[in-house]
Amino acid sequence: MMTEGLFQLIWAHSLYRTGGLFTSSGEEVTVIFPGRLNRNAGPDFMEARIKIGGTTWVGNVEMHLKTADWLKHGHDDDPAYRNIILHVVYEHDGTELPIPTTTLELKNHMSPTVLQRAEGLLQNIGQLPCSGVHHNVKYIVKANWMSRLLAERWEQKLESWNIFLEKSADDWRNLLYHRMAANFGFKVNEAPFVMLAKSLPLNVISKHRDNPMQIEALLFGQAGMLTRTWEDSYPNDLQQEYGYLRKKYQLHPLPEHLWKFLRMRPANFPTIRIAQFAALLQQSVHLFSSVIETQTVKEIYPLLDVTAASYWDNHFTFDEHQKKSVPKNLGRTSVENIIINTIAPIKFLYATRQEQEYNVEQVLQLLETVPPEVNNITAIFDKEGWPAYHAAQSQALIQLYNGYCSQKRCLECSVGLSILKGLQ
Ligand code: SF4
Repeated sequence: MMTEGLFQLIWAHSLYRTGGLFTSSGEEVTVIFPGRLNRNAGPDFMEARIKIGGTTWVGNVEMHLKTADWLKHGHDDDPAYRNIILHVVYEHDGTELPIPTTTLELKNHMSPTVLQRAEGLLQNIGQLPCSGVHHNVKYIVKANWMSRLLAERWEQKLESWNIFLEKSADDWRNLLYHRMAANFGFKVNEAPFVMLAKSLPLNVISKHRDNPMQIEALLFGQAGMLTRTWEDSYPNDLQQEYGYLRKKYQLHPLPEHLWKFLRMRPANFPTIRIAQFAALLQQSVHLFSSVIETQTVKEIYPLLDVTAASYWDNHFTFDEHQKKSVPKNLGRTSVENIIINTIAPIKFLYATRQEQEYNVEQVLQLLETVPPEVNNITAIFDKEGWPAYHAAQSQALIQLYNGYCSQKRCLECSVGLSILKGLQ
């Protein structure tokens, strides 16, 4: 049951009986500071402070389940392991190491309760291994962990956005265009939307902003959806416009088969999303500066109040006429999805890069005024009595589930650690 990961955690948080520790050669050991866990190559803990036989040492600590693992892991020939101040093993198997190393065995200092709790977490095969136990973890522990998870989620997400800015000499308008396009794909069609934006430069769109039909022609044409002839005049007109614009800008359309329609609600069809994206591009001349200027969700909603061209009132695809005529505006859930996944992160990134601490805080508060996402992951936590009350929490729970719970990384999670420590 004991693993290196669990053993390191027990050491890092002093979850063992700390009194009466002696090295294999009989010297008394007092751990003043266990060291900083090193996740890179080299010894497991750095800058530890350990008193061994009356002398206080400062340096690195290496940990193994058995003494012989030192040799198995090839540390003997590795100069990075010459200055280890303490070799901590779960079980000292009597192996004599060729280089003088002070060895401390901890097997008999383990707390059965800690081990039982760890086993409970690691052997639970449910969707949430801490099911039934997490309720007792202090609110403050969960709240702090959720804040860190949100930061971690955005850090991962914004890495590629930062790269985009660096490569484009801080072209924020273009970044927003590309991210907005990806968001209009709403997961299922995200990849083709990303390709669509890449194939159609923003400056081409900007030149035709005063002509909604040309913007639609550019988008539908580049999406590869204008390659046939139809009964309706609308797609035929778009095709004609696109033929001219394609030649003018030497554009290369995507293959149509990239777009997914299967098992989707018609309101989410890529045709409808492209028409709504076209409407957004047409009506938002200064979208980036408007986004940055907004401070509340109430101010953001009107920016995303877009409706597809009237042809789409009674169509979900070209030529297929619907009896019921309904304007295809971006629904509230879609708007909130865009606020969570594009608007808030870009405002956060902008404030961070401008070192506007106040605005960074404001974006995080803004997310707390957006309703939480409802999806398979938030449903798991909801069922467990751990609901998200706003989008900052649902984002944190998504990060928690994908990055930790589903990968059984309970020992790296603050909730798991709290359960282990018994601070419930
Ligand atoms: S990672 Fe944390 S929250 Fe997720 S199941 Fe494990 S202990 Fe619970």
